[in-house]
Amino acid sequence: MSCTLKGIDTFLFDLDATLYPKENGVLDELWRLFHLHIAQHTNIDADDISAFLKELPANGVLFLEENHGYNREHASHMFADLDLNMLEPCGFTEKGLAELKGRKVIFTNATKSHTEAVLKKLELNHHFDYLSYVENRDYFIKPHAPIYEELLQVLSVQPKQCCMIEDTAENLKPAHDLGMKTVLIANMDKADLPYVDYAYPSLLDWLAAVQQ
Ligand SMILES: [Mg+2]
Repeated sequence: MSCTLKGIDTFLFDLDATLYPKENGVLDELWRLFHLHIAQHTNIDADDISAFLKELPANGVLFLEENHGYNREHASHMFADLDLNMLEPCGFTEKGLAELKGRKVIFTNATKSHTEAVLKKLELNHHFDYLSYVENRDYFIKPHAPIYEELLQVLSVQPKQCCMIEDTAENLKPAHDLGMKTVLIANMDKADLPYVDYAYPSLLDWLAAVQQ
């Protein structure tokens, strides 16, 4: 299925499991390190962390600071021990992004250091001229709707100029509600959700299908 994107000149890319395949183990390792981090830096009982994280509000870092003895300064180092050797540069991704006409932006729930480290390892930094990570959004995370509108303001673009590319379906809802085009990557079981305009098994499948 082709993906016709007339009038779109701004692309908002999620980072983890969007710019690289989710099967490579990085996501599992991220989740493990996140649990470990919460266990080390809060007063939450280790046995309660899984259930607790499922209910974490959109500004989770601030919530942890106010209620569980957390210090936001720790967040930047959350994934410092992540083994990024599981990531490799991909020539097809490089070529596809190079041929995609328009401004490319990262819109991730990750930290600044993790975002920069992943882009560097994938050798994709040069494609992106703006990175939106948790530290420059006061630690609010997708799918908190106001951060989508703030990003549009920062970029000085209208929603109808934008296409968002994401592996977490729920994060596409605010984008769709604002009037952006939405592309779901990898999770084909959620392709029929009303706020998913297009769905592809991988980023490469989408890049091959784009028509501008
Ligand atoms: Mg992701």
